[in-house]
Amino acid sequence: MPYKSIENIFNPPAHHWVGDGFKVNNFIPGVVPMERISPFVMLDYGAITYFPPSQKPKGVGSHPHRGFETVTIAYKGKVAHHDSRGNSGIISEGDVQWMTAGSGILHKEYHEQEFSKAGGDFSMVQLWVNLPAKDKMTEPKYQAITKDKIIRIELDNSKVVISLIAGEFMEKTGPAFTFSPITLFSVNLQKDTEFEFELPTDFNTALLVLEGGVEINTAQTATQNQMVLLQNNGHKIKLKATQNSVILVLSGKPLNEPIVSYGPFLMNTKQEIIQAIEDFNAGKFGELE
Ligand code: MN
Repeated sequence: MPYKSIENIFNPPAHHWVGDGFKVNNFIPGVVPMERISPFVMLDYGAITYFPPSQKPKGVGSHPHRGFETVTIAYKGKVAHHDSRGNSGIISEGDVQWMTAGSGILHKEYHEQEFSKAGGDFSMVQLWVNLPAKDKMTEPKYQAITKDKIIRIELDNSKVVISLIAGEFMEKTGPAFTFSPITLFSVNLQKDTEFEFELPTDFNTALLVLEGGVEINTAQTATQNQMVLLQNNGHKIKLKATQNSVILVLSGKPLNEPIVSYGPFLMNTKQEIIQAIEDFNAGKFGELE
């Protein structure tokens, strides 16, 4: 079976708000269980939403994480970020921020000030990537993967434009350092363009349609705001764009380790969760207002 079969095509679940700045549809674990799509443990999809001008930036205040990585992919609008290790930055359109929470960090995420004042369309994806047990307590760190660092691969007279964020793909390597094998990229496809590619058979793989629509493996069509979960039974995927499209492809080797998750902590055992709560309460994640 060369082609990965379609396991399911999901509509977005009802949206919810993260703070007052992020209107999101939670596909993982809301629709696809985190065990099924390991090493990805959370995916909040912020479809294009217009925010009117606001003097006070909207967003989410200081909160902790331990045991995984948060990956923010900005499609429209700008996010300002601060953490308890003294890092801060602005994630602009086309940028990716890859934060390794590891042993523990506090951070806050707001609409960037000038974007907030002007208002405008906002769209982003936040993906949480689990860390292997041996790396869960790694030092927190932060990869600011600006648009210029993302590997751009153009095919078919630029009717296919790939923005490779992480992993090996078409003999190129994405800029993100990852703790387990992952391939993560966005692809822009012009209407009626075909794009066939390969990913390892054993990698858990999903497609998120941000714009447009695609026919997958000459079988079913997924349209804007749907997620496609593929089976681990082949190594090829064929897309044909029914409209100009933007697709996020997430693919990774499953960790096959126990998961115990509690709010912003994601560990392997209940005892490690209790420890995370104790360490957070004891101020070991640092300080951030
Ligand atoms: Mn967060």
